[in-house]
Amino acid sequence: MRVGVLALQGDFREHLSALNSLPGVVAVPVKRSEEIDQIDALVLPGGESTTIAKLARIFDVFETIKKRIKSGLPVYGSCAGLILLSNQILDGAEGQETFGGLDITSRRNAFGRQVDSFECQIDFNGIGKINGVFIRAPWVEEVGPSVEVLASAHGHPVAVRQGNLLATSFHPELTADLAVHRYFVENICKVAKR
Ligand code: GLN
Repeated sequence: MRVGVLALQGDFREHLSALNSLPGVVAVPVKRSEEIDQIDALVLPGGESTTIAKLARIFDVFETIKKRIKSGLPVYGSCAGLILLSNQILDGAEGQETFGGLDITSRRNAFGRQVDSFECQIDFNGIGKINGVFIRAPWVEEVGPSVEVLASAHGHPVAVRQGNLLATSFHPELTADLAVHRYFVENICKVAKR
């Protein structure tokens, strides 16, 4: 299975190395439409959602990604990636765009500023207890009826799933634990409708 990691900005290298540790996965950096057309799944990394969205316009991949999300491509977004998958955002920058697809409203920088970054143990439905690394993280403020909340922290959803889409406020790619990436590959990519 060929999994693309959007490599415009952010911690895409960490996602690539986590994914490439999983059997049967070939993870490749992608930033052109032709590359995005050739993948079976996509990961949107952590970083800065405003910058990633702007670069996606500059590299002319914004509409390609949006279209592939709509047509059922399995996509996992961590942190900035969660924001980019949100249908609505709060506290976004003026005119900030998202690819959308997930019927959620997320709040940017909801847990505070860079200095308020933290780690905590979270209970992830389908995985169990894992360590969550939160860096200027968003939380999920509202979820639509077809969204499943997989984990919460400090009383707010921080991991959600809707069909082929998975998003977490935290960064499993910054830990040695491959559980969330494995969950994405096994429970979403391998069962996705083509
Ligand atoms: N605060 C960042 C944003 O709005 C997300 C931070 C992150 O990905 N660690 O995009």
